[in-house]
Amino acid sequence: MSRIEIIRGDITQSCVDAIVNAANCSLLGGGGVDGAIHRAAGPELLAECRTLHGCETGKAKITKAYRLPANYVIHTPGPVWHGGGHGEEELLASCYRSCLGLASENGCKSVDFPSISTGVYHFPLEKAAKIAIGSIAAYLNTHPEIERVRMVCFDARTEGFYLDALEKLA
Ligand code: ADP
Repeated sequence: MSRIEIIRGDITQSCVDAIVNAANCSLLGGGGVDGAIHRAAGPELLAECRTLHGCETGKAKITKAYRLPANYVIHTPGPVWHGGGHGEEELLASCYRSCLGLASENGCKSVDFPSISTGVYHFPLEKAAKIAIGSIAAYLNTHPEIERVRMVCFDARTEGFYLDALEKLA
């Protein structure tokens, strides 16, 4: 699946059609990558997010990206890990599918994702990486309009798990 790439970096620097924000259901900002995106995008992003009235876990909503180099931000609340018996795996897969669906609808050809739910939401990284890569690959198989999807990993440990998951897919 040559349209999927794993890179190390800060997603606020990504110069792509859409970056994904690992948001919370309020869509009003938080810590981690969410905080970094809001800081870099400026207060206009929060103002637009206020008009959206939140988002359910596993779904996604799109906004402009304001001061970021990307064109759009796609916000998706990932599942909080509660041991795996609460639909967490299906909800995480749904995050990736929902974001890519919005990317297609909005003409985005390049999309960068952070590692959704593996920070303060504590989703086990190995499982999350498999679900992410599997969901993205399945979507790309039936959606040629998306040319490139990158996982932007903030640290080497995260990058390692995503590289493994991509290798196992091949
Ligand atoms: P969640 O609440 O979905 O777990 P977090 O923001 O806590 O979201 O963490 C998700 C992932 O995003 C973690 O791997 C974290 O290290 C990473 N992260 C934090 N800041 C950035 C950034 N600027 N760019 C890319 N990834 C980031």
